[in-house]
Amino acid sequence: MIPDSVSAGREKVGDAGFRFSCGPELKCYNRCCHNPDLELYPYDIVRLCRKLGMKSSDFLKRHTRNSMRTNPWFPSVMLVMANEQGRPCPFLSPDGCGVYEDRPDACRMFPLERGMSVHPFKKDSVEEVYFLQRMPWCFGHSTAHVQSIPEWIEAQGLAEYNRMGEIWAGMNVLFRRNPWGPDGQESKNFRMAFMACYDVDRFRDFVFGSTFLSRYRLDDALIGRIRADNAALLEFAFDWLKYFLFAAQPENFKAG
Ligand code: SF4
Ligand code: SF4
Repeated sequence: MIPDSVSAGREKVGDAGFRFSCGPELKCYNRCCHNPDLELYPYDIVRLCRKLGMKSSDFLKRHTRNSMRTNPWFPSVMLVMANEQGRPCPFLSPDGCGVYEDRPDACRMFPLERGMSVHPFKKDSVEEVYFLQRMPWCFGHSTAHVQSIPEWIEAQGLAEYNRMGEIWAGMNVLFRRNPWGPDGQESKNFRMAFMACYDVDRFRDFVFGSTFLSRYRLDDALIGRIRADNAALLEFAFDWLKYFLFAAQPENFKAG
């Protein structure tokens, strides 16, 4: 079910769209890049690592901390702010966002918030709703520009982020079943899942540097795609976890 209740400071966005625009002419420019509570999704980490030329393990150590938030069985990864006055985002430069083309989902989406209902094993099962968050320090709501949700998705380059976000939301539904058992985060399965979701370069070493490829039947085209591209490898990692932890048989994935 799509939630239809709206908490204070948020309102559901309908077909009429929403009034908002952002730019350096506003006196609040970059205010939102100071001390945000910024959760990074797995696809955000892939994109930021690519932009920064960093390995995911180094990125996680240098820029993130884990936090138990909405899912009691699986941590969120949070971006750590710079230890400077105002706690700016470490990627904020004097000219604005220094990772703009690869900025995280939450930065693209703001001031919107996407609510979703997904079935982890059914394609095209997503129901979604968008909310507008009104922050008192953000003057973008006072501008005249009105846009629809599809226009915002296009303008912010959100389509691929939304698609990967839907898969990630499905994984979160599965992790809520607590597949780790009594050992919790000490279990091998938890550590494998954390690596597969958040540490794609270590997952790459696991796939291509172990007996993995002899244990599963993958077609050559898929192997080529995941060898060439960390985003494709992440999508494959989600499929593998569905098989490994939940005995599902995702498309394109067969045990040997
Ligand atoms: S308008 Fe809002 S989103 Fe844009 S810079 Fe100002 S605070 Fe940030
Ligand atoms: S990633 Fe860019 S847009 Fe997001 S908080 Fe940091 S500087 Fe701002």
